[in-house]
Amino acid sequence: MPDELLERLRRFQTDAFPQQRSLFRHLVDEGQHPLTLFIGCSDSRLVPYLLTGAGPGELFLVRNVGAFVPPYDQSQGFHGTAAAIEFAVLTLQVRRIIVCGHSHCGAIRALYGEVPAAAQNLARWLDLGCEAVLPVAEQGAEVLRRTEQRAIVLQLERLMDYPMVREQVDARALTLHGWHYVIEDGEVHVFDVSVGAFVPASRADNAGTGPYRVFDEDAGLDASGVPAG
Ligand SMILES: [Zn+2]
Repeated sequence: MPDELLERLRRFQTDAFPQQRSLFRHLVDEGQHPLTLFIGCSDSRLVPYLLTGAGPGELFLVRNVGAFVPPYDQSQGFHGTAAAIEFAVLTLQVRRIIVCGHSHCGAIRALYGEVPAAAQNLARWLDLGCEAVLPVAEQGAEVLRRTEQRAIVLQLERLMDYPMVREQVDARALTLHGWHYVIEDGEVHVFDVSVGAFVPASRADNAGTGPYRVFDEDAGLDASGVPAG
């Protein structure tokens, strides 16, 4: 039986790589200078390069279950996502941070259910989304969709607790973008802080905004920045 994975590795080098050889050469010689930190859910259906049309060297990627941002707690533990945020902002000096969740997210659905008893790290990790949970008895598609979106805004707020992020945002050198990718439509809905809602990219006039100020100051928005109701 052929080793399919090995076949793919060989095909990359013989078929795909030659077409981008000079680009990779350039990225090696000049180093990487991505302008975007993309924090996305690990879900296999979310393909950041397809969504953004980006190529090698353009996205600094962090992916984890749920596209969550851990709190900036200065505990200096093994916080991979926090380390990536620090590196992207302080060293790479990215100009934007995208937090990208998606429809049918298993992490968000798990917030309403249970995870395997042996998945202790997963259970703890999911705490990072629990503030987005809606107090409802039944979780229909609409509840899950709203929870997915609320979770994204929650992560944007947590990003603002990172001193280096807040500093750059305040200096207007860094923008934050909340995206909700609807897999079945092939459409990203971008969070627009001025309307306090996610707007389909086909109707949006920007790629997502904010937060540039505390959401609670905005009348009609709940703490997560998503309109109540
Ligand atoms: Zn997901």
